[in-house]
Amino acid sequence: MTPWAQRWRRQALRWAGDGVDLLFPPRCRWCRREGDPLPCGLCAGCVRECADLRERCSRCGAAGQGGADAGCVACRRGQPAWDGLVVLGGYADTLRDAVLRVKRPGAEDVAQALATLLVDRHRAELERARVDAVVPVPMHWWRRAGRGASAADEIARAVARALDVGVVSALVRSRPTRMQNELPAEERGANVAGAFRVRKPVAGKRMLVVDDVVTTGSTLTACCRALQAAGAAGVYVAALAKADRSGEESERGASS
Ligand SMILES: [Zn+2]
Ligand SMILES: [Zn+2]
Repeated sequence: MTPWAQRWRRQALRWAGDGVDLLFPPRCRWCRREGDPLPCGLCAGCVRECADLRERCSRCGAAGQGGADAGCVACRRGQPAWDGLVVLGGYADTLRDAVLRVKRPGAEDVAQALATLLVDRHRAELERARVDAVVPVPMHWWRRAGRGASAADEIARAVARALDVGVVSALVRSRPTRMQNELPAEERGANVAGAFRVRKPVAGKRMLVVDDVVTTGSTLTACCRALQAAGAAGVYVAALAKADRSGEESERGASS
């Protein structure tokens, strides 16, 4: 294209953009209020409500704990299966409502906005982790029956894009499990232990496992152990929300 044609094309796109904005003013992806959403796609109010500012343990994600690499007192006693974990906030209030919406089909834009915000908030830790690829937690067979992509798939795609790495669907469920949210916390570990198989080469790679919400961590533990057994050099976890109190763990919709 000649330079003047390029200039005209750029101008035409700019006019088209203004027209689109007049017809469809930008809205917050979650509360749908018109206005000037932040780059992640959410308004300032929703960002304040979804991303908490509490200091969390960089290893297990426990709220109110220091961010040292070795983890908090609790995870020094019993180390989590992963090398580091980032979450946007506690599984409560606005973030809980948004995560429950993301679990249902047709909320790709909300998933993308929350995932983008998650990466924005934790870019330093995620870059330190130097992950090679993002791995979504595979969907439960019962949920797969009703929809194409899972919430974890949507979040993984957006996280990968923001980090400029690929998505690798490296994990599959190797045996049927019961829905985690139908089980008491103490039975969830056994329900999913050894339930995942690695089907892509991950040896020597640093993987970021992505899910919508961390409750007991049993599903994520099983996923991370499978990746480690297959030779992954590092395994990190990113999730939109973390259930901070045991009372929240049995709540409807929390599945991991
Ligand atoms: Zn909003
Ligand atoms: Zn910890």
